[in-house]
Amino acid sequence: MLSVKNVTKYYGDKRAVNNISFDVKEGEIFGLLGVNGAGKTTTFRMIMNLLEPTSGKITFNNKKIDYDITDKIGFLTEERSLLTKLTVKEQIIYYGTLKSISKDIILKRLDELLERFNISEYKDVKINTLSKGNQQKIQFISAIINEPKLLILDEPFSGLDPINIELFKSVILDLQKKKTAIIFSSHRMDHVEMLCEKLLILVKGETVLEGSLKKIKDDFKVKKISIKADVSKKELESIKGVNKVYKDNDSFTLYIDDIKYSKNVFDYIKKKDNVSKYEVSPLSLEEIFISKVGTFYGK
Ligand code: ATP
Repeated sequence: MLSVKNVTKYYGDKRAVNNISFDVKEGEIFGLLGVNGAGKTTTFRMIMNLLEPTSGKITFNNKKIDYDITDKIGFLTEERSLLTKLTVKEQIIYYGTLKSISKDIILKRLDELLERFNISEYKDVKINTLSKGNQQKIQFISAIINEPKLLILDEPFSGLDPINIELFKSVILDLQKKKTAIIFSSHRMDHVEMLCEKLLILVKGETVLEGSLKKIKDDFKVKKISIKADVSKKELESIKGVNKVYKDNDSFTLYIDDIKYSKNVFDYIKKKDNVSKYEVSPLSLEEIFISKVGTFYGK
C-alpha cells in the first residue's frame, strides 16, 4: 500500500532525512519514532505531497501521490490546526469539503463520529469554547471524516486524560479492523508498544532500528531480570555477565549482557531463601530506544 523507498530530503545543505525505507500495509499500525528533529514531520509532509523528496520514491498502491490520493489520506498533525472561531459542524464541513466529500455524507459521518466520541451535544458549539480534550476529538474527527485509506497520527494522545486515551485507542483499533493503514508517531514508547507491530526509529534523519517489535525485542541482546529475594546487591553485581543492578527495598532489577548469563544468576539465586520472584524478560521499547539513541549520540 504505502511504500517509502530510499528517500532522502535536504533543506539547502541540511540533510533532514537520509535514505529511509519502509512499507505500511492495509490494517497495519506502523510506528515512526524519533526524538525532536529526527525527521518525522519532514517524512509526513513528503507522504502528503507537501514536500518533494530530494531523492527516492514514495508511492501509494504503486502510484505517485497526487491530489486524488491525498483525498484518501488523513493527517492528524502535531501542531493542532483547528479554526477555533467556527462551530464543530462548520469546521468538519470545511475539512470534509477540502477532501472532496459531499455535504450530505459529511453530516451523516459527523453524527456517527460525534456519538462515537461521546460529544454529540457540541455539534453547534464554537470550538474555542471546548476543553482541550474535546478539541483534540474534533481534530481527530477532521482527520478521519474522509474515511482515509492511510491515516497519519502524530502524537494523537497529547493532552488527553487516561479515559480519553482508551477511547482514542479503541477508535484507532476499529480503523485498523476496517483495513486502514496507520502511521503512528509518538514520543511515548508505551503507547507505541501498545499499538504497533512494526516500527522504525529515526535519529537525525537516519534509521537506527526497524522491523517488527517482537523481533527488535528478541534480537536486543541485553535482557532484564527481576528478582524479589533476600540477596545482596554486591553479590549480584559480581556475577559474570551482570551489567547493572538496581535495588528497591527487597526487589532487584538487573541487566545481563546476553541471555546466556541468566543461568549464572539463576545458579546464585537458587541457593537463597525467600525467593518470591525470578523473571527474565526482554527490555521495554523505551529501554531499547534510550540505549540505541544514547549510543548514537555517543553517550
Ligand atoms: P519534532 O518532533 O521536533 O517535530 P521531527 O522529527 O518532526 O521533529 P523535522 O521537523 O522533520 O523533525 O526536522 C528534521 C530536521 O530538519 C531538523 O534538524 C530541522 O531543524 C530541519 N528542518 C525542518 N524543516 C526545515 C526547513 N524548512 N528548513 C531547514 N531545515 C528544516
